[in-house]
Amino acid sequence: MWFRSTNSKESPSQEQLASFRDAVLGCLPADGGLYVPDKVIDIREFFLYMDEETTFPELVAAVTPTLLEGDFNSASASVVAESAFSFAPELIQLDSDFSILNLYNGPAGSYKDFGIAFLSAVLEELRKNAGYSLVLAAVRGDTGASIAHAFSRRKGIGAVLIYPSGPIRGLDPATFVPNGGNIIPIQVKGTFDDCQRLVNETISDRKFSARYSITSANAINPGRLLPQTFYYLYAFIKIRKQLSGSLVFSIPCGNFGNLMAGLYAWKFGMPVNGFIAAMNSNNSLGNFIRGGTFTPGPLVFTNSPALDVRIPTNLSRLASFYKEAPSVMRNMVYPASVDDELTMQTIAEVRSKYEMYIDPHTAVAFAAARQFAQEPDWKGTHTIVLATGHYSKSAGLIRKATGDAVSIPEDIVYLQKRMDPIAIIPPNLDAFENVIASCF
Ligand SMILES: *Cc1c(COP(=O)(O)O)cnc(C)c1O
Repeated sequence: MWFRSTNSKESPSQEQLASFRDAVLGCLPADGGLYVPDKVIDIREFFLYMDEETTFPELVAAVTPTLLEGDFNSASASVVAESAFSFAPELIQLDSDFSILNLYNGPAGSYKDFGIAFLSAVLEELRKNAGYSLVLAAVRGDTGASIAHAFSRRKGIGAVLIYPSGPIRGLDPATFVPNGGNIIPIQVKGTFDDCQRLVNETISDRKFSARYSITSANAINPGRLLPQTFYYLYAFIKIRKQLSGSLVFSIPCGNFGNLMAGLYAWKFGMPVNGFIAAMNSNNSLGNFIRGGTFTPGPLVFTNSPALDVRIPTNLSRLASFYKEAPSVMRNMVYPASVDDELTMQTIAEVRSKYEMYIDPHTAVAFAAARQFAQEPDWKGTHTIVLATGHYSKSAGLIRKATGDAVSIPEDIVYLQKRMDPIAIIPPNLDAFENVIASCF
């Protein structure tokens, strides 16, 4: 697969394209855009021989050589699939109208584990016999734990996690560089934006980044986005025999990475009739998706914090879909906005109707799906709701909504454990580069 920049012209020349390897290692095109797949790859042939028995690693190993032709053959794709995924998505059909796709079984209890795990395995494979390299990531929430977990097992790669004032949680100090591991947590006396700026400045410091073979593991790396298509395909092959009408996915949207991956799965040939872009009160792209202009509003703090985003990082990727075929897109993506009250009510209703707990982000998507299901022309549609976070991470909220005290698995309890960084630095490039240099 070839990638072009969202800032490039419609039909870029071959020199303006990047291979998957270059897109993953380079992360961002030089023109300030984001990488998007250039040509559409057709994966429909795979649906002929995959069925409910197909396991998730089997699906990943089968599809990867076609998606990433030129960079992976079937042998190296199997290695990556097996080493990335010790966890799998889980599709549960609830009734004729709804299924839920649980994506929270990874080490940090969120769907982001899928992209991060795949990226770590891909980098290990692409950088095999190429000397030591470093991955930088600005992190907050549980992303640090997810990256540390995925990369601590990788040969020839170190992971530098920089995070803003406040604690970092859920890491294993035995994996830190001073203790013989390969993880370098650094706290910046500043904000998350300072951390992201430092990552970008370090990558732009050509001399320094060449010396340590630096890449980035942030969410806009195409190596994190593409593997998220796998669980859409997986859900489709599990449910298709049950389908009699349309199929729709409902997705809780913050930075819109998850929705983008669904749109790519559709573009690559997965038969699906639409996607619900479920937002909370921030409703960042409601107007844009309906055909209006994008005007960022004020940031609203809600009880689904991973969706509290004003300017989604994937906006330019989404816009490139709309530029290509505006009318098709208006029939493909349905925006919805769900407030805190309805989020809480949905957690309670899903608990009593299906005897199942969902986290507040999942509840936003579930509430939106139930609203659409009431429309007359929605009859016969089956909606798969993406459960993006483990419900026990929101135990307090669930207690408030349902009165129940949910039990919290040990791995999720561990995610709350605070760790000391190996250094605390002011938000400037010299300080950051000095700490990295002192580790090697
Ligand atoms: C990150 C996250 C989201 C939002 O996903 P985007 O790809 O940013 O739209 C939703 N739910 C949970 C639990 C998350 O961690």
